[in-house]
Amino acid sequence: MAQGLVRRESVEAEMHRSGDKGTTSVYTKKRGYDVTRTPHLNKGLAFSFEERLQLGIHGLLPPCFVSQDVQLLRVLKNYDMKRDDLDRYVFLMGLQDRNEKLFYRLITSDVERFMPIIYTPTVGLACQQYGLIFRRPRGLFITIHDRGHIASILQNWPENSIKAVCVTDGERILGLGDLGCHGMGIPVGKLALYTACGGMSPQHCLPVMLDVGTDNEAMLKDPLYIGLRHKRIRGQAYDELLDEFMKAVSDRYGMDCLIQFEDFANVNAFRLLSKYRNKYCTFNDDIQGTAAVAVAGLLAALRITKSKMCDHTIVFQGAGEAAMGIAELITMAMEKEGLTKEESLKKIWMVDSKGLIVKGRDHLTHEKERFAHEHPQMKRLEDVVRELKPTAIIGVAAVAGAFSEQIIRDMASFNKRPIIFALSNPTSKSECTAEQCYTFTEGRAIFASGSPFDPVTLPDGRTFYPGQGNNAYIFPGVGLGVTACTLRHITEDVFLTAAEALAQLVTENDLAEGRLYPPLSSIRDVSLKLAAKIMEHAYEHNMATLRPEPSDKDAYIRSICYSTDYDDFVADSYRWPDDCMTVQSCKL
Ligand code: NAD
Repeated sequence: MAQGLVRRESVEAEMHRSGDKGTTSVYTKKRGYDVTRTPHLNKGLAFSFEERLQLGIHGLLPPCFVSQDVQLLRVLKNYDMKRDDLDRYVFLMGLQDRNEKLFYRLITSDVERFMPIIYTPTVGLACQQYGLIFRRPRGLFITIHDRGHIASILQNWPENSIKAVCVTDGERILGLGDLGCHGMGIPVGKLALYTACGGMSPQHCLPVMLDVGTDNEAMLKDPLYIGLRHKRIRGQAYDELLDEFMKAVSDRYGMDCLIQFEDFANVNAFRLLSKYRNKYCTFNDDIQGTAAVAVAGLLAALRITKSKMCDHTIVFQGAGEAAMGIAELITMAMEKEGLTKEESLKKIWMVDSKGLIVKGRDHLTHEKERFAHEHPQMKRLEDVVRELKPTAIIGVAAVAGAFSEQIIRDMASFNKRPIIFALSNPTSKSECTAEQCYTFTEGRAIFASGSPFDPVTLPDGRTFYPGQGNNAYIFPGVGLGVTACTLRHITEDVFLTAAEALAQLVTENDLAEGRLYPPLSSIRDVSLKLAAKIMEHAYEHNMATLRPEPSDKDAYIRSICYSTDYDDFVADSYRWPDDCMTVQSCKL
């Protein structure tokens, strides 16, 4: 009797997209066994007796009724029995495949605890072992040989309303290099955070692997490898694949469908960003997300130093995706303070594997050229720091220990409050430890890191809490804000807005303790606030296409957020009277 009905959430999503404000009922077309095997419908033992009868699953479940709270307890007890992080990852992915609402209920119950498992650092380990831990496919796998057919492959995806796609070609997975098709763990993990932190419905998110082969010999020889077994195909065929993919996604899901690029190699990341940024709703998290989180840290640091961005001279150790993105956004912040582009570029210096980037030097790409200034060549970072006397140094070259004791002490000698960001990941690649930084500067350094560090207590008893510049502070909020007001392009000022909003969420107490970011435990609230700020910015600058404009952006953002509560599949008219049966219901 419940046949022909549609699940509430999909209906609401459709209404949100089409602007329909009418009321619609709550039911599902699926019945029977399919319901218990469909992760976003499955409630396990939480299906009520009425639902079991109406959906035709009576008898397919043990005769016991439990609340989601009890299910959460069971999951947590199982989780605690796992031996290591990879086991925990596999367990959580299994839960996501079985019961999606319960999975997100678990993650949102303690994001700080579960984020390092479903995202970095464990997701890196998972990608390395993706062939071994492969159970059920998640997301869409499109290969270089599918050129000409991408639109029809997209038709195979069961959801019609996708708002955010996260795509990788697996060539530069975290700091682990080319993992080919096994890089799929990254879009899967990122989109899980879109939901857990950004409140986007998982049905609106699509992870995509563009498999063009891999140059990783170990993968090619591994019998458990799940991708194409040939070297990477590059050049024209690669570009055609990307062009067709971007067009096919936008044709099927709309020009406002967000496409996040993730872990592409340097050589493609910048190129594709500049090719597509004004044509599609797209951004590159490694470049722009990183930029926003690092600039948010700098803006919070300025609240401590009581200075402006343009008062600073900044030296980067590294000149790759992260450095270029951060530097670009810093220049935007300086321009906002009144400097010209040329003046702001002059405040930034970069050191790459060949030494200081100066005019006329060899090996200068177009991106590096912009930060090349007139100066004699210098090889060593120590010498560069002594010569330029920067107010801030930012490490993004993955060279462990690059911020030597000498460099840190020098920074402390010419700055009252030196800004030292050791952003390279993982911890083993960090330019210095939090302890070294606070110790060598007698607690005067303003420090942030890419990987988490424990609090540091100096011999004089002062304790500092190092800030972790985690991209997860930015991309879920940006994704939610951008999709909520249906932006068609993501301009750089969206990221500056996000950075400013994030820096403003740091309290004076946080700053006094050395924290440049809000606590990770508040990341969901942070993401929602960022999204509301991005909406405000988008309407102010006539970029938003959602009409009518919601008057209360905060309330609107909260109203469209995904709920981990189970949907009610029972039509009121079909509901059994309360006294009709005894349902055993357990509550914690
Ligand atoms: P990338 O490969 O694009 O860039 C690395 C850069 O380091 C290149 O310019 C290279 O020339 C330079 N380099 C290599 N060896 C060097 C040396 N000995 N001296 C000076 N420079 C050297 O990588 P990326 O995406 O820019 O990431 C770099 C690091 O930043 C990684 O460790 C990554 O984990 C980290 N990162 C952190 C965050 C964050 O904290 N939120 C975000 C993104 C990246």
